[in-house]
Amino acid sequence: MTMQKNKVNASHTPLYREAGFNLRDAKTTKKAFIQEADNPHEPDNYIYSRYRNPTVVSAEKQIMKLEEANWALLAETGMAAIDIAVSIFQKGKETRPWLFFHEIYGGTNSFIDSVLIKRRGLDIHRFYAQDGLYDLSKLDEMLETIQPEFIYFEAVSNPMLIVADVEKIMRLAKKHSVKTIIDNTFGTPYLWKPLLDEATLVIHSVTKYLSGHGDITGGVICGNDSELLKEAIDYRKWAGHFMSPDDAHRLIDQLKTFNLRFKQHCDNALKIARFLNEHPMVETVLYPGLENHSTFKEALALFGQKGYGGMVTFDIMGKDDEEKASRCNAFIKSLEDTIPLVPTLGEVDSILLPIEPVWGAKYPMPGMIRLSVGIEDADELILNIDNALIL
Ligand code: PLP
Repeated sequence: MTMQKNKVNASHTPLYREAGFNLRDAKTTKKAFIQEADNPHEPDNYIYSRYRNPTVVSAEKQIMKLEEANWALLAETGMAAIDIAVSIFQKGKETRPWLFFHEIYGGTNSFIDSVLIKRRGLDIHRFYAQDGLYDLSKLDEMLETIQPEFIYFEAVSNPMLIVADVEKIMRLAKKHSVKTIIDNTFGTPYLWKPLLDEATLVIHSVTKYLSGHGDITGGVICGNDSELLKEAIDYRKWAGHFMSPDDAHRLIDQLKTFNLRFKQHCDNALKIARFLNEHPMVETVLYPGLENHSTFKEALALFGQKGYGGMVTFDIMGKDDEEKASRCNAFIKSLEDTIPLVPTLGEVDSILLPIEPVWGAKYPMPGMIRLSVGIEDADELILNIDNALIL
């Protein structure tokens, strides 16, 4: 094989697509594998792309900066990042109980039921919200009784957008010497950097705001503890959870605009939430930036004046469930060319999702819609929504 060996004065991070790297001779090979056992985040000699890849490491370094983390590891999906984050605490018969908040992404709840409980037979406990609020004295009791290895929660829940009283939760975790794993997909490091508040691990569905254009599927796990980094690298390597260098290469550019994008998501969402809150065809608006939200106080405490996220959930008015369902459908149909129904979130373009067909019995609200507000012109979005609400 003939190889291009000249160094190129590239101005952007190169895309290294190779599965295996050229280790030249026996000495370098040995050194690379010894170093690999020590698990540095960024090795001198790369070995194999499932272990580590320089393009992927470049994207990881950007996320480290955003989350102010000592390390970040990318994976092929948000679910893969969750699998890594929890599985590194699984130690055969020695595995302690794990405690998950119930108001988390539905897919994570399914992963818990289908993988952690049904297949792995783990001792899993759930902490439920009541009437849109967390009773933290109950959490205190549960931590005392169960003594879990970790608690797992999302600072902003989906789709009810409940903001957790993070300060108290972190205090309770500390009191009971319990680790914390936080899915920060909805909050994002723009609003909150959990590691600065001593969280153990932070994960994201990179598919959402971090990439932000709906054309990458990815996940990331971030932390400060170097022992956990070793465990996470080990698990990622052997479970084969790895982001492709092509995706990482595009992610590098998309991350450059993350802060700008997320500010715009927040500004637009607040404007739309306020508009919907005054609209005669809207029964309820759930947005943590509105004073009538059950956790406005918590949102203000956690996010300050920075914003309240890019998601708005609202319920269309109707005399009964049948009328609500038909109005909801008419609303969706009339927006199909401007705000389409797409089952994801966090993209630069606004998209929506009806709640009842997706969440079923958990949220049987046929008039309810979750709006992922994009970064388009807010007045134009409001005009389109207003026109679609003439039902
Ligand atoms: N966490 C949250 C909050 C999510 O909304 C999602 C997906 O919707 C995930 C994790 C899973 O991420 P992915 O779809 O990238 O696997």
